[in-house]
Amino acid sequence: MTDVGIVGAGAGAAAAAFVVDGTVPDADVTVLEKSGGLCGRAATRRHDDLTYDYGANYLKSDDDRVVELITETLDDEGLVDVTDPVYTFAADGAVSPGRDADEHKWSYRRGLTQIAKRLFGRTDATVHRRTRVETVRRVEADSKWELDDADGETHGPFDVLLLNPPAPQTAELLRTAQWDDPLRETLVEAVGAVEYRSVWTAVLRYPFALDVPYYALVNTDKEHAVGWISREECKAGHVPDGETLLVVQANDAWSDAKYDGDPAENVAALADHVAEIVGDERLADPAWTDHQGWRYALPEGGVDRGPVDSARDAGLYLLGDWVAGEGRLHAALANGLDVGERVAYGI
Ligand SMILES: Cc1cc2nc3c(=O)[nH]c(=O)nc-3n(C[C@H](O)[C@H](O)[C@H](O)COP(=O)(O)OP(=O)(O)OC[C@H]3O[C@@H](n4cnc5c(N)ncnc54)[C@H](O)[C@@H]3O)c2cc1C
Repeated sequence: MTDVGIVGAGAGAAAAAFVVDGTVPDADVTVLEKSGGLCGRAATRRHDDLTYDYGANYLKSDDDRVVELITETLDDEGLVDVTDPVYTFAADGAVSPGRDADEHKWSYRRGLTQIAKRLFGRTDATVHRRTRVETVRRVEADSKWELDDADGETHGPFDVLLLNPPAPQTAELLRTAQWDDPLRETLVEAVGAVEYRSVWTAVLRYPFALDVPYYALVNTDKEHAVGWISREECKAGHVPDGETLLVVQANDAWSDAKYDGDPAENVAALADHVAEIVGDERLADPAWTDHQGWRYALPEGGVDRGPVDSARDAGLYLLGDWVAGEGRLHAALANGLDVGERVAYGI
């Protein structure tokens, strides 16, 4: 029996659990997730008859193994592909066609969280939601790992431990870990060095349709307060006909400056920007709104892989987009598949 503990239920963790569970017949996988949902930053909410992806916007087809996983291995029922293009806008708000680099822009009718739900759904893993891990402990006597959660409960022992939270949160778990090994400090340094961009997201609903030729607008010179605007109604099943639901992501400087500001003021300021960029003054006055601050939205780069690879000797595996070196959903999934195989085959 191999007991596998996983902290975090992001896409990377889901892919790893799927591989381990399917490859090691007697593996016993336990997942501890601090939030109430699955799939981490690839997040979906529902409100009335709306479904919207308010973290990652879509999954792109940049990794062959991930494409196979999504289109062949997993049930592709309800998979939606956004075919409308992505246009660009500049600091002065001028919109122009043409940055449709992505062959596919996938979500699901029920939202991107379906990826982790479908992956975990194919396993016997036990997933504990609303369970925040506070302490990681190495039990050297029998080479195992234990985890204490915020309610004081201990989980484990585990032969193998996977850590999926964003680098700053993983670094904190390692910094406070009860693990008397010089590698711990080297890991804390390497993982703690990964920098992140924050994103403040507003979701804006309108009772009318927008007549524009694009799915989304991206700010290419990174000089505008708004970095991204996309239309959830371009994803089948997300928005009732004749309505508009915009997901607006502020750029990192604006997000940092306003992170702890009044959410209503932030939403109003972003709605004003949207009205100006799209060129429709009705957009300054949404009928309903939602918002989310993402402190650790996107890693700026990857981690030094040396210490991360060395940790495997102790049965400790770090995984996620920041380990892959790219703040993208397909990269997190690909890294999860890779880590799952390493755990399964002991490589
Ligand atoms: C605003 C925004 C827009 C984005 N847009 C795109 C996009 O358009 N396309 C794209 O490909 N990617 C996009 N991304 C990036 C994409 O969402 C991520 O790359 C991907 O989801 C990362 O997955 P992951 O497995 O690395 O970890 P995460 O999704 O970060 O999952 C980690 C999990 O660990 C949990 N956790 C943390 N600490 C603890 C703890 N102590 N105990 C228990 N659980 C814990 C968290 O709650 C979380 O569920 C975007 C991200 C954001 C935030």
